[in-house]
Formats: sequence, structure tokens, C-alpha cells
Amino acid sequence: MTIEIVKAAHIPDETRDTWRAVRRGLACRCPACGQGRLYRAYLKVADRCEVCGTELHHHRADDAPPYFTIFLVGHFVIAALLAFDEFWPDAPIWLHALLWSAFVVASSLWLLPLVKGALIGFQWANRMHGFGASPE
Ligand SMILES: [Zn+2]
Repeated sequence: MTIEIVKAAHIPDETRDTWRAVRRGLACRCPACGQGRLYRAYLKVADRCEVCGTELHHHRADDAPPYFTIFLVGHFVIAALLAFDEFWPDAPIWLHALLWSAFVVASSLWLLPLVKGALIGFQWANRMHGFGASPE
């Protein structure tokens, strides 16, 4: 009897398109409906969607968003720095320090919530960390 209850709680009740949920997360929207806001503050995920009521507190993004953000920003900044150096090889070092520091900080702050939203969308679509549990 107990086994039947556990199995019933994990039967998929709907299909969840992973890429659609990731795109909605990238837009900082609820992965289920795409309408409600994903965050209640800069990186604070809302407990539930204000539109469809989907519980969002199950996410376990942890250190993955900063890891992927550093990975992406690092590749972009190195490519931009090398291109800039080709264009202006005698640029003073203070200009490099100022320009690339500002670029790294601004792009990291911009990209971090998007990457976190995409990861939450991925977790929701794959029913990870309680996203697949029955609401009861
Ligand atoms: Zn929603």
C-alpha cells in the first residue's frame, strides 16, 4: 500500500518542455506559465508564481549560476580584450584595467539572474529537487 502511494506521487502529470522552461527562466519568468516573475528581489526566487501558483522554492541552484556566469563572462572578456588589443595595440594599461574591470562587473551582474533562471527552469522541467512532487 505504501509503495503505491509513493509511485502515485511521482507519476508525471504533464509534459514539461526543457528548452521552453530554460528560455522562460532566461527571461526571469516562471518556468511553468512564462507569465509570473521568477524573482521577488535581485537573486531571491519567489516562493511561488504569482500567476499560476507553481511552487518555485524547490530550486537548488547553489553555486552553479556563478560558475556558469564566470565561465561565460571569462570567455567574452578574453575575446573582447584580444580584439581590442588588435585594434589598439598601444592602449595604456590603465585603460585596460578600467575598461575590462567595468565590463566584467557589469556583465556578471546582468548575466547572473538570467543564468540562475535558466538553471531553475531546467530543474523544474526535469522535476528535480521536489519540482516533480505532488502538491499534496
Ligand atoms: Zn507561473
